[in-house]
Amino acid sequence: MIRTRFAPSPNGPLHLGHAFAAVTAHDLARTRGGEFLLRIEDIDGERSRPQFVEEFFRDLEWLGLAWDGEARFQSHRLARYTQAGERLKAMGLLYPCHCTRAEIAAAATRMGPDGPVYPGTCRHRQAKAEGAAWRLDVARALEIAGPLEWTDEQAGTLPATPEIFGDMVLLRKDLPASYHLAATLDDAADGITLVTRGMDLFPASHVHRLLQALLGLPVPVWHHHPLLVESDGRKLAKRRGSPSLGDRRRAGEDGKAIAEALRRRQFPAGISLSAGVDHPA
Ligand code: GLU
Repeated sequence: MIRTRFAPSPNGPLHLGHAFAAVTAHDLARTRGGEFLLRIEDIDGERSRPQFVEEFFRDLEWLGLAWDGEARFQSHRLARYTQAGERLKAMGLLYPCHCTRAEIAAAATRMGPDGPVYPGTCRHRQAKAEGAAWRLDVARALEIAGPLEWTDEQAGTLPATPEIFGDMVLLRKDLPASYHLAATLDDAADGITLVTRGMDLFPASHVHRLLQALLGLPVPVWHHHPLLVESDGRKLAKRRGSPSLGDRRRAGEDGKAIAEALRRRQFPAGISLSAGVDHPA
């Protein structure tokens, strides 16, 4: 049986792009007789707002998307992240870093999926642990893990190349995890067998595959779906003024009809699916 999830971050209201992601994950589970979980990625304390979580629940109900079991919250799992972080430190795979974004941008010699790639400045520096972000020594991690592969339902099986990110942060200065570590541990803890998410996170799966190998976690299959984009090709985003689902719900629109339209790939004027393989559930 497959088990997949929708994992929104409560740092703003959901919009149509999120609805498409949620419908995709929900339908993949339902059409295969599997389970659909809801996980709230709320560890970004500065940006997370509890009121958005309440809105998420209402939005999903309004769209007609029921999730299995209770919603899960990353903020309840900090101890688990800390434990994994300690384990990676004990393996000698993490090192502390105090570099600022500006320093990294100035020293970087290449671009990665998230911008300038950290050039490894602190790898052999033994910076102080206090107040540091902790980075993964990717070369060393790959030596231990050996060659790895992962499978996306559309893209097929491909070699894991986490080095495209350079030595990424796994433990943030202010948190016992970064997105990469938290998402990987959660998917394992929740028994997720199919990680459904947008194409924008495709590169992250290289990192998650490596973390699974290092931490002895089960390896799911991935399903990266195309994103809703505006006519200039940019991803729909709340900051660009696309109406939130909450606004549409309060205006009396029919959420189930909106979900149906997304299933039929009918989008409002000026909105389309990004390039990438579309594979309706
Ligand atoms: N929280 C992430 C987002 O809202 C999704 C993470 C994931 O699906 O792995 O974009």
